[in-house]
Amino acid sequence: MRILYVEDEKFLAEAVIHMLKKEKISVDWAVDGEEGLSLALKPHYDVIVLDIMLPRLSGLEILKTIRNRGVKTPVIMLSALNEVEDKIKGLDYGADDYLAKPFKTTELIARLRALVRRPALADAKVLCFEDLELDLGNRSLNGVELTDKESEIIEMLMKAPGSAVTKEQILAHVWGAESEFDDNYVEVYISYLRKKLKSIKTKASIKTIRGLGYKLIYV
Ligand code: CA
Repeated sequence: MRILYVEDEKFLAEAVIHMLKKEKISVDWAVDGEEGLSLALKPHYDVIVLDIMLPRLSGLEILKTIRNRGVKTPVIMLSALNEVEDKIKGLDYGADDYLAKPFKTTELIARLRALVRRPALADAKVLCFEDLELDLGNRSLNGVELTDKESEIIEMLMKAPGSAVTKEQILAHVWGAESEFDDNYVEVYISYLRKKLKSIKTKASIKTIRGLGYKLIYV
């Protein structure tokens, strides 16, 4: 993990950086707002830790500028405990988290880790089952395009390998709990999916379990 830390209080910064390095987090340290901004615009960082009160340019100004320029790097704002307004502004400008000073470095590390995990989860967009690969980004199964509903149904089945998913579960998940649609819709979409599975020549298939629902099998 590599972070940018923008903080003008030298002793605080050095103590925090020392702890972060022990945790194998590499840190680029900027001591004022201008330097912070020019570094924050670079795509090198997993997280940016921004103090609000800074010489030259405030942390809020940096945040506003980078978000306006399309930088999506997660940002943790730091400020004194009583600056509630700063916290609200920071979140308005697109900060991802906020930590009141004084803070424990262990708390900062926990927040950093949580933020770095978040995009990793969102990026895990290929789901696999045996030789099947569902790309959740462009909704395709082994390269074959799926409709939104087909993709959501096969996703449910692939996430429950070896167990049956009921029609009710599919209906609730794909069409919504208050749905006025009925079981037949599920059957229709399952038949579309079966055709697509056939076309990609996989040994995976959707088995109907009487009275239970559907199960993805591989034989
Ligand atoms: Ca400061």
